[in-house]
Amino acid sequence: VGELSLIEWIRARFAEGLSRPATGKLIVGPGDDVAVIGLGREKVALKTDVVVAGVHFEAGASARAVGWKAMARSISDLAATAAMPSAAVAAVALGEPGGRAWAEELYLGLEDCARRYGSPVVGGDFASASGPTVVAVSVVGRFDCEPVLRKGAAPGDALYVTGELGGSILGRHLSFEPRLAEGLFLGRSGLGSAMIDVSDGLATDLRHLCRESSVGAVIEEANIPISDAARKRAAATRHRPLDHALADGEDYELLFTVRPAEVERLEREWPGPARIKRIGGMTAPGSGILIRGSGGTERPLLLRGFEHGLPQGGPR
Ligand SMILES: [Mg+2]
Repeated sequence: VGELSLIEWIRARFAEGLSRPATGKLIVGPGDDVAVIGLGREKVALKTDVVVAGVHFEAGASARAVGWKAMARSISDLAATAAMPSAAVAAVALGEPGGRAWAEELYLGLEDCARRYGSPVVGGDFASASGPTVVAVSVVGRFDCEPVLRKGAAPGDALYVTGELGGSILGRHLSFEPRLAEGLFLGRSGLGSAMIDVSDGLATDLRHLCRESSVGAVIEEANIPISDAARKRAAATRHRPLDHALADGEDYELLFTVRPAEVERLEREWPGPARIKRIGGMTAPGSGILIRGSGGTERPLLLRGFEHGLPQGGPR
């Protein structure tokens, strides 16, 4: 069973129940970077995420880096909706890799990231396991602005991405900094009309954004920020650096849209620290997702992303 089809089954299955939670009020259900519920007068963001040995990290990866990654992935999703992390819980099933020292390093890595982004680990669970080690982190966040969702983009909006893309398998997938300051800026300033973090690869996550917003998109090949790691990776594969930038997962950059009238303000007020690049724009519903080459010809943007697993030779 592919991951996407199972996720769709779960969404269909739970959609009705989630619309009538016992307490609180559902504001954003499955299908965005986080769920948002109303508790009293507060909007609360919820996100859980799992990191599995052999899938999201190799057995030889530093335990401290695995801990960092497990926390940072959830914080990246909060950032992608402009939610401020409040607290986290972590559940660990310790199999292989494992051992006391490994587990301690793992928790130190969780704590490193939690401290940096203001999301202290306040509880969790621990079990020994006979299979691969699994680390699940759940983070709660709150908002001091409206959540920025995947569904806010309109035709004509400019499309931007932070940082550089591709090749994160060479190491960045274990050490990335979630774009929290950037996501909060886009929410608080009102500049972000839609947003997602790039976890499955630019092509796939752009598709998610377009589907939720019911728009098309055109991206400019020449404007895609290609990382050095993507170039290095391309030297070892038969793909182009551009293909790695478009399709590799786990960049954890922010992909977001801005109304055309706000582009100038965005460029003027952008606080960093990550740089932004305008990579294209949103188009009318039904016009598809296209990439424009340097000669001006447009072609459909192929996914070439991959689902979870190791089909392209490494963890993601
Ligand atoms: Mg996400």
